[in-house]
Amino acid sequence: MIYDLHSHTIFSDGDLSPEELVNEASAGGVKVLALTDHDTLDGLPRAEDAARTAGLTLVRGVEISTRWEKLDIHVLGLGVDLDDSTLVDGLKFHQSERITRAQQVSTKFEKLGIEGMWEEVSQQVKTHYVGRPDFARVLIKRGVVNNFQAAFNKYLAAGKPAYVATDWASIPEAITWIKSAGGVAVLAHPGRYRITRTKLTKLLAFFKEAGGEGMEVLYSAQEASKTQDLARLSKQFGLVASAGSDFHGFSYPGMRFGALGEMPSGCQALWDSPLWQKCVN
Ligand code: AMP
Ligand code: MN
Ligand code: MN
Ligand code: MN
Repeated sequence: MIYDLHSHTIFSDGDLSPEELVNEASAGGVKVLALTDHDTLDGLPRAEDAARTAGLTLVRGVEISTRWEKLDIHVLGLGVDLDDSTLVDGLKFHQSERITRAQQVSTKFEKLGIEGMWEEVSQQVKTHYVGRPDFARVLIKRGVVNNFQAAFNKYLAAGKPAYVATDWASIPEAITWIKSAGGVAVLAHPGRYRITRTKLTKLLAFFKEAGGEGMEVLYSAQEASKTQDLARLSKQFGLVASAGSDFHGFSYPGMRFGALGEMPSGCQALWDSPLWQKCVN
């Protein structure tokens, strides 16, 4: 699979710089890469320069957090303009929500007897992103947990003691931001939400009705049966099929470049659809 339309750098919760990311993608055989950091466009100019040097096509992307029926749902914007004020202002709002949430998460940790988390997290944050992975890293450094997954399972995941629900944009709002910036709205990792299949079909219907155009069908570390089911759903809901590793760097297991396999037949790939010209203009 030469397309990989979902990845992260140090501008959100990834481990690699944009230059390192592009080189890693290239080494994995990727020819068309989207950088989709969480709620920020800041890494894109450097990624574009690096991609030009490496001979890759770079799709300007972003992964927007949204709130739907008390769930955190991620929406990818692919092929977005960097200077659209609707998108830029929306992302600024999310960046300030992230700071507010981080302070609230820190207060929750204090009640659990774990002091000074915001002070330590804010010291290590160097970009516009602050998120739960930053808390996970501090918990590991302090020896409170042994690994990243344990930090989420014990404290940070939805329903755990340090989880704070965030007032993210709704799905229709995020789609409006993406379309304002000329991009294509793709539902990220539909197989990863902890919901029933019935609820997933409700989400897909809602996403489509709100103007969503695509969904990820190929995704890292996903069982073949799941991929087949998502391919069927993409056809059923008229959403084009995308492919993304969600690569964050080597400290995140299971997400690798060059391991996505082939798109199942029967669904329309984003890059074979008329929408693709919006992604690569
Ligand atoms: P945030 O942007 O603060 O909501 O954090 C979301 C990021 O944390 C995701 O993009 C993942 O990289 C990671 N993450 C979220 N939930 C989990 C989980 N249950 N286990 C491990 N990592 C997670
Ligand atoms: Mn992430
Ligand atoms: Mn995500
Ligand atoms: Mn992601």
